[in-house]
Amino acid sequence: MPLVIALTGGIGSGKSSVAAILKELGATVIDTDEIAHRLTAPGQPGAHAIGEQFGAGYLRADGALDRDRMRDLVFSDSAAKKKLEAILHPMIRAEVNAAVQAAHAPYVVIVVPLLIETGSYLDLARRILVVDCSEEQQMARVTQRNGLGADAAKAIMASQVSRAERLRHADDIVRNEADLVALRTEVVALHRRYLALAKGGSSPG
Ligand code: ATP
Repeated sequence: MPLVIALTGGIGSGKSSVAAILKELGATVIDTDEIAHRLTAPGQPGAHAIGEQFGAGYLRADGALDRDRMRDLVFSDSAAKKKLEAILHPMIRAEVNAAVQAAHAPYVVIVVPLLIETGSYLDLARRILVVDCSEEQQMARVTQRNGLGADAAKAIMASQVSRAERLRHADDIVRNEADLVALRTEVVALHRRYLALAKGGSSPG
């Protein structure tokens, strides 16, 4: 079993950016959101099960999950959210387990946006890596990138654990408060620490 790191952070904190750099440096990166997208594509088992349990109205004409419609539903209906999670989480977990087993890289990074909120993958990961930035920066990045309104961005942030609570669980922290060049420098240093840890070498400083 390789060294497994769970990477998390609030919306727009920079999780994907950090994961992309770690991947480029040689880590195996497993992105649970990407797996969820794949499982809910046309003809895939997640989309099929959602159609069966929620009705065909939650699928688009091509058979993929209607993301907007499902998002609206689960935002206001916690029972529906639980039902959706009961369908998708075990499927995602099975894919993650298989990908971890198949990995040949010195260490594996699993990207789990709601790691702290759900507690999923804590059993698999040896360390928790939190990508952190100020809430103002999260807002700025998310509104710029998704064209999301400030109120919508705030509502998503309010549905996630607080910055302080997330940091309380962190073994490692990437502070993503400057530019992408600074981010890369920080991530390269982290990669070296993970390589050392994977070799059973010095403890991370
Ligand atoms: P989400 O939770 O929405 O999936 P995320 O945590 O994966 O987001 P990213 O997608 O990595 O975050 O970053 C959000 C946006 O901010 C992207 O457009 C990214 O290019 C940009 N970004 C991230 N970090 C920086 C930075 N240090 N400087 C400038 N732009 C950044």
